[in-house]
Amino acid sequence: MEKPRLAIIVPCFNEELCVKSTVEQLLNVLNKLVSDEKIKPDSYIYLVDDGSVDKTWKIIEEFHNKNKLIKGLKFVRNFGNQKALLAGLDCVRAIGCDCAVSIDADLQQDEWAIEKFVDEYMKGADIVSGIRNDRKTDSFFKKITALMFYKTMNILGAKIPPNHSDYRLVSKRALDILEQYPEKYLFLRGFFNEVGLKTAYVNFDVKPRMAGESKFNFVSLMGLALNGITSYSVVPLRFVAVLGFCMALFGFLVGVETVIEKIFWHNSPNGWATTIILLCVFGGIQLFCLGLIGEYVGQVYREVKARPRYIKDIELK
Ligand code: UDP
Ligand code: MG
Repeated sequence: MEKPRLAIIVPCFNEELCVKSTVEQLLNVLNKLVSDEKIKPDSYIYLVDDGSVDKTWKIIEEFHNKNKLIKGLKFVRNFGNQKALLAGLDCVRAIGCDCAVSIDADLQQDEWAIEKFVDEYMKGADIVSGIRNDRKTDSFFKKITALMFYKTMNILGAKIPPNHSDYRLVSKRALDILEQYPEKYLFLRGFFNEVGLKTAYVNFDVKPRMAGESKFNFVSLMGLALNGITSYSVVPLRFVAVLGFCMALFGFLVGVETVIEKIFWHNSPNGWATTIILLCVFGGIQLFCLGLIGEYVGQVYREVKARPRYIKDIELK
């Protein structure tokens, strides 16, 4: 196989503290891979500015003016990390590349693992997924919620390996398939796992964030998790149906029991507390299920409007 033209995609949101050294370090990686004859010399870095309000874009422009192998795209506003990644993948496909790696702007992922990614690609993998060795740098809360998310996804049938991240290499072939997916809220981890292309795994070490703060909060992480679940599984909807059936059956049996007691023992049950408890429990379950169905309706609603995934402001090719 011929050595590939590699594109490195970096989503950046208010990363003025990180982006300069990140680009320099990624250039080191590119130069090393080029001198080792593992990738073509026209391999490049593609930075997607997800509507930053700090100096991020200015720094990207300065790099581009000095070195055309540093390209970029700016969104008109913040669209979120998944959209920035999607835009990066779309754009490098348009510019041209044989494979693309996505990595975070804070270089929490070990950038030297890219070499192993390329090796796996040369062995024939279309997708090379980075797997974190551990989650040492994550807070306890993030560890727990991430574990819960991957467990839930597995139970629901979308088998995403735990400790998976958006650090991965994808081939041109995978990019071409991605292009055929019109979903606006595509969940990339689910997608690359589901397409069925040959996948390899590479372990990498996680580092603490280089500078600045995490750009994710509880609400955005929950949004990502819910999007992942509702895009890749309808099991929760079936669960609601089964639960409804069980509750109805329970109600029916209690009804029969009450009538029998009344007829044969002339007992009029006086369960005020029981009534209130059952009312609250069943009311709660009903609202929960309604909310759950609402998540899917919301997903349909967002997709059916078919708004653009993101809006480009400036592109540096
Ligand atoms: N990011 C983005 N848009 C957002 C939030 C984050 O492009 O709305 C980028 C961010 O600049 C970084 C990557 O996504 O390159 C991962 O974000 P971060 O490191 O803050 O997340 P964490 O590592 O804490 O999960
Ligand atoms: Mg990070």
